Amino acid sequence: MSSFANFSQFTGHGGHASIILSLLPIERSLELKQSSLDPSSVDAFEQRLRELTAENWFGLAAALRRAGIEADPAAEYIEAEIGQARATYSDQASAILSAGDPSVSEADLATLSDWLARRFLTEINERRQRDLGVTHYIWRTQDDPKVRTTHAERDDRLFSWDDRFSDGHPGHGYNCRCTAEPAILDGAILLTEVTLSEGLSNRIADAQGAGLADAAAEAVAGGVETLYSTIRFFWLGHRRLFGVITPEEEVERLALREGLIRTIDTIINLDAETVRSMAEAFIDYFDARHADLRLLDLEHRLGLVSEDSLLSAYRQVAYLDASVTLGATALTTVASRLGIGVARLRPRDAIVALRTAAARYDGMLSMRRAFVATYVSRRFADLSTQGHGPQRHEGAVTRAILEARVLRGIGPMTGTRVDGVTRGRHRAPNAASRFTTPEAFVAAENYVRSSPEYRAAREAALFDPAFREGSFEVALPIRDALGPDMMTALEGVVRIGPRNGADPLAAMNFENGLVIAQFRIATDGEPELITMFPVGRRQ
Ligand SMILES: [Zn+2]
Repeated sequence: MSSFANFSQFTGHGGHASIILSLLPIERSLELKQSSLDPSSVDAFEQRLRELTAENWFGLAAALRRAGIEADPAAEYIEAEIGQARATYSDQASAILSAGDPSVSEADLATLSDWLARRFLTEINERRQRDLGVTHYIWRTQDDPKVRTTHAERDDRLFSWDDRFSDGHPGHGYNCRCTAEPAILDGAILLTEVTLSEGLSNRIADAQGAGLADAAAEAVAGGVETLYSTIRFFWLGHRRLFGVITPEEEVERLALREGLIRTIDTIINLDAETVRSMAEAFIDYFDARHADLRLLDLEHRLGLVSEDSLLSAYRQVAYLDASVTLGATALTTVASRLGIGVARLRPRDAIVALRTAAARYDGMLSMRRAFVATYVSRRFADLSTQGHGPQRHEGAVTRAILEARVLRGIGPMTGTRVDGVTRGRHRAPNAASRFTTPEAFVAAENYVRSSPEYRAAREAALFDPAFREGSFEVALPIRDALGPDMMTALEGVVRIGPRNGADPLAAMNFENGLVIAQFRIATDGEPELITMFPVGRRQ
């Protein structure tokens, strides 16, 4: 480990070094007055910590209040933490002033104050969340170009406080300005600005369209730039040929020549093996991005991720996909996303960068999937005890059971002609359908519960005298409730001919279909799901 006496050198090293603290007493002579630590600077630092402490609690309390939880800040250790951070600042600031170059001292002090304040806030935030029982957080970056690539990939995603990345939680990396927003408390999701409303599928389509437009615009811009360079290079060549080129133009001509040679080399000078490796690396990377998007879509429908985050991911993935279709821009596009300078791009570097990024996504996905799987199975079990939605319309139900139901009236819960809920005779309906995965079932149920339509229907069932039974039904477009990827998680049969005919059944078409959910208000006033199923629309 390297050691430095100067704080600028220390910070320039990336923090993985030690700083030498001067043990010489600070002389209080008149000449050195400038270089001794002003006590008011230490007080100002402490004041800053107190403001950050209050601001952090304000944010946490607001998130908890949205989930209906009131909490008091535990103050015991905060004072000790503030005292410790104050002492560290005082020591290190004195060291800077006594050992450092006076011309850089002021900037060094500001850097020190920022760094220690951020470290303090990161510690307090994690400790408070863990104390409150928060198990998972949403990673938030500053959303600007200075965010490092590895952190941009984690932006708006859900992670566990118990699963640390190699560079820690948000705010741990040197100069990391990311923050951790509380997401899950005691297994309950803290709704963080999640709004689910009608027309989500249209907004997803708009976001994808915007991604395509971005890629098209960039392809045109890239093409024009290369074309411009080429024309300019030849024009300057003519000026040189006729002896009228200026020295500055000659410098420009040589630079353009270098650039064009590099571009041509990059495109042409690839052997078959490199091209294949690169194609494979691309495919793995895009697969990882698609898997991330699918999980993000599910997380949004479970109430874990905001719509803005979801739409921006749809836009980015559409942009990447379109870049591939548009050919030559794909390599440079992805490379620049991964922080590689396009001008210096070499195929080997690109392959390594793509593989590394894909591996990072895979690691991140398995961390998030573990929680989502636990949440879905717990919620699914909970719904199974409420009504008969899952039993009748998911999982254990097979295509054969759906057909038996339509053709012979066999109830999926009892396996006989007796209805599992009413205990009456199970009538043979003209259609039967199911969700094919618990994810789709739980996501659709959560989507319905988060909709304005659900809230309005529940209000009516609770307070409108017309609803004596206290039960209500909500119908929403399947496209909105499930999203593009989960539209395939549905199966259904419709009777199109006589029951004893040759070909009585057809597959249900869910295009423009609805999710129908029926609820009953339980004795504690909370609606329970009675049943939920997808229905197709007649074409
Ligand atoms: Zn960061």
